Amino acid sequence: MVKVEARLDRSYFVRVGVVGGMFLFFGLIIASFGIKHHSLLAVAFAVVINLICAGLFWREYRLGPSVLDHDGVTRRDGARFSWTELIAIVDITHKTITSYTSIQFAGGEVRLFPLTLANAGEVVRFVERIRMKKQCSICTKLPHFCRAMQTHGREEQDTFLPLEAGKLKRIKDTEPGKTRSPELDQCPECGTYYLYEIEYEYLATGSEDEQKLTRLSDEEAAKYL
Ligand SMILES: [Zn+2]
Repeated sequence: MVKVEARLDRSYFVRVGVVGGMFLFFGLIIASFGIKHHSLLAVAFAVVINLICAGLFWREYRLGPSVLDHDGVTRRDGARFSWTELIAIVDITHKTITSYTSIQFAGGEVRLFPLTLANAGEVVRFVERIRMKKQCSICTKLPHFCRAMQTHGREEQDTFLPLEAGKLKRIKDTEPGKTRSPELDQCPECGTYYLYEIEYEYLATGSEDEQKLTRLSDEEAAKYL
């Protein structure tokens, strides 16, 4: 998975300028009314609504993503979150329209407002891929690494890979021509790659069959593709 930089669209700055300008304009009218009529309350009100408006924009800006890569995401305020700490990716909708996507981590939240981004398509596709992996019915049942072994004559001690390992699709042999070449497998649901290794050892005391399954990052899988 490549690195994606979330770039703010020019329309975002225009919107901030227009909405901010409107608040400032009405704030000034209310404040000048307050000064004229010696109403401290009106002046305070004008200042407070402008501070709230600025605060909301500042918060939305800082909670947004700046860089997304295969390890995690960096927020615009500099906070970094790892995908391993991802809890959920939730679309926050308002009257059936998605207002933003909340990417929730153990240590905080990243808010993705697609309408604010110049490269929204690229960023949304990246996040959707992460969401698919997070919710995948196959990969969620497979640990990062698993191993199983069967020994002839000691069947009661045999271990097996999770059933879901059988649902992976074989892509290619990583060392063609070699007997029992490690296999590059792929999840048919979310596209995650795995390395499947088989070993067989003949022993007089009971031959051993061993299988190992390791989840690969896209970069690791690229070496075999
Ligand atoms: Zn999967």
